[in-house]
Amino acid sequence: MELKDTFNQIHDRIDAACRASGRSPNEITLIAVTKTVNIESIEEAVELGQVVFGESKLQEAIPKVEALGTRAEWHFIGKLQSNKARKVAELFNAIHTIENDRQLNEIAKQEKVVDVFVEVNIGEEPQKSGILPSQVGEFVKVVLKCPQVNFRGLMTIGPNLQNGEVLRPYFRRMRKLNEEVGGNWLSMGMSGDFDVAIQEGATHIRVGSALFGARQYN
Ligand SMILES: *Cc1c(COP(=O)(O)O)cnc(C)c1O
Repeated sequence: MELKDTFNQIHDRIDAACRASGRSPNEITLIAVTKTVNIESIEEAVELGQVVFGESKLQEAIPKVEALGTRAEWHFIGKLQSNKARKVAELFNAIHTIENDRQLNEIAKQEKVVDVFVEVNIGEEPQKSGILPSQVGEFVKVVLKCPQVNFRGLMTIGPNLQNGEVLRPYFRRMRKLNEEVGGNWLSMGMSGDFDVAIQEGATHIRVGSALFGARQYN
């Protein structure tokens, strides 16, 4: 399928999820996740009107960000090692994966103010990144003290349960937590489950394979 068609499909799904929950598609930011996707395809997506892109590795993102210039906005969605945090803050418009003080200390060494989400391990899964739900309130207070970050809200990668409907209670808990800490943006939902995430209050959805096809890792 051509990129034009997959973008149309995704926009149709966004519209349907918004209709089902009384929301407006204007409230939803589609982040096109371009890890492993080449610059030509990103250029094509920009031609189709896509503006916001997501990458999870700094090294992979650098040539893409440089090639696209001011025609695109970039959100960092990967695990953020603190030794890369300063450079990521300089290069990206937003970071979705803030989860510790070391990252904040590094971001504070540069001048730009970057939009950030705090990542939450909503399923309380061992091995998974993110702050536990019970610790989010305390951590957001720390984030709010860092002048180089603009706290926007929470982000989660839900448990890998395949079926969006099974994830609904997790997404619902995320929305409640986000309200408790004063978040206005809420990053949740990927190719397989963003419909349910939108119904439960997502403002930013991160969609890769449903747009660009299955990722080919070398
Ligand atoms: C890769 C990735 C996505 C996109 O996943 P798809 O299932 O391909 O839509 C979303 N969020 C994060 C954090 C990712 O790493």
